[in-house]
Amino acid sequence: MNFQERSRFRKASCSVEVWIVLEAVGRERAVKKAIIVGGSMGGLLAGNILTREGWTVEVLERSREGLEARGAGIVPQRSLLAALKRAGVIVRPDIGIRIEKRVAYDRTGHAFASHRYEQFATSWSLLYNLLGQNFPAEHFHAGANVVAVGQNPGSATVTLDNGVTFEGDLVIGADGMRSMIRGALFPKIQPRYVGYLAWRGMLEERHAPPDFVDACFSALNFSFPDGEELIGYPVAGQNSNVEPGHRRFNIMWYRPISPGAELRDMFTGVDGVHHEAGIPPSLVRPELIATMKKEAHELFPVIFANVIDRMPGMFVQAIYDLEADHMGEGRVAIIGDAAFVARPHCGAGVSKAADDAASLADALARHDRVEDAISAFSAERTAAGRAAVRWAARLGSYFQMDPAGRRRGDFDPKHPPVGPDFIVKYTGIELSEVTEDVL
Ligand SMILES: Cc1cc2nc3c(=O)[nH]c(=O)nc-3n(C[C@H](O)[C@H](O)[C@H](O)COP(=O)(O)OP(=O)(O)OC[C@H]3O[C@@H](n4cnc5c(N)ncnc54)[C@H](O)[C@@H]3O)c2cc1C
Repeated sequence: MNFQERSRFRKASCSVEVWIVLEAVGRERAVKKAIIVGGSMGGLLAGNILTREGWTVEVLERSREGLEARGAGIVPQRSLLAALKRAGVIVRPDIGIRIEKRVAYDRTGHAFASHRYEQFATSWSLLYNLLGQNFPAEHFHAGANVVAVGQNPGSATVTLDNGVTFEGDLVIGADGMRSMIRGALFPKIQPRYVGYLAWRGMLEERHAPPDFVDACFSALNFSFPDGEELIGYPVAGQNSNVEPGHRRFNIMWYRPISPGAELRDMFTGVDGVHHEAGIPPSLVRPELIATMKKEAHELFPVIFANVIDRMPGMFVQAIYDLEADHMGEGRVAIIGDAAFVARPHCGAGVSKAADDAASLADALARHDRVEDAISAFSAERTAAGRAAVRWAARLGSYFQMDPAGRRRGDFDPKHPPVGPDFIVKYTGIELSEVTEDVL
């Protein structure tokens, strides 16, 4: 598009943004501009990396409040630390909580499997706050709800629900699993419920029995009632505090729930509304929580059941797979959960978003044309996203059997379910250590 054509396009788009046009021909702008939709982990990682690499970046985040409250603990993969460093955020492993091993307990509390594997847990909100503080505040737009995306050969635009338009060289959709940007590019790609959900909760360390803290605060802890799985591990406490006495214990209890009426009931809140896209913790019906806590006493060793009993504000999260065919088209790219959601067993959601952000920045540095960069990025990261989804589904194949030991509808004879030993050994390991023979 030539200078006049582009200026016509700008006028038509009613943009409130002003382009700095340095030359009418050839290199049109000295500083390229990226518009990022979504200001969570993926958006802030991409935003910080591109800003440090000379781009002007606008981040548009729908939520008006900070997102700190959303996160629990994460066990970062090595590549996440590298991407954080590139984004200008140094995270030293020694400020996290050291996890030395994995241990699985039977109903009586006997440890029937253990495996040494060193990792550290840090807090989602610590990383989110560091990335947020590092990003220029004047370019972060909270309460900016993007409702449309468009592009032409010279630029890409997004429009907010108040009609304001932002225009740049490219748009990056970092807007999560229910991405508006993906919906516009690839409407057929949708999250797929995989037949189980996770009850989630956290307990302050000071409310946990001392023998539980001794046994469980330096490990990933598992329990496997028939057809179900519990994983629990220490995470940072309030204000990202990782000092003993101030930490928290985080659990995810995976339970098969049939799609349809049963699932709908779990996601119908105290307000009587069916919250299909995720139920806010404050709306989970107390009778569901009471039943779940009672069943915890029937299924888990008493030490875990007591901890679950004391957890305030437990909530449910349905588990999905999401796989895009491509991660961009023309001047619009998608990253993180907008493109691929791998089940939580692989513990790689934030790291995957970080790898996407780093790969996109590399491609933009390598290619003169934004479209070529997005195409190269898409080829590289679509393969990686598929591999992550496949690996997490392998870890989740345990749930192909129902609690009564019958094969569920999604039983895959080519990949018979993995058992507890496999899960204990491989949950949340470095993706780079996953080899073909375990896939
Ligand atoms: C049960 C569970 C456990 C998990 N545990 C881990 C773990 O241990 N370790 C780990 O690394 N990962 C974990 N994850 C995954 C992790 O939370 C995400 O993968 C990660 O945060 C990357 O997300 P994202 O930035 O791509 O998207 P999100 O975090 O979903 O952010 C999308 C952002 O876009 C904004 N947005 C959406 N639509 C619009 C719009 N139209 N306009 C403007 N803004 C918009 C949203 O408000 C949101 O802030 C877990 C996930 C689940 C479900």
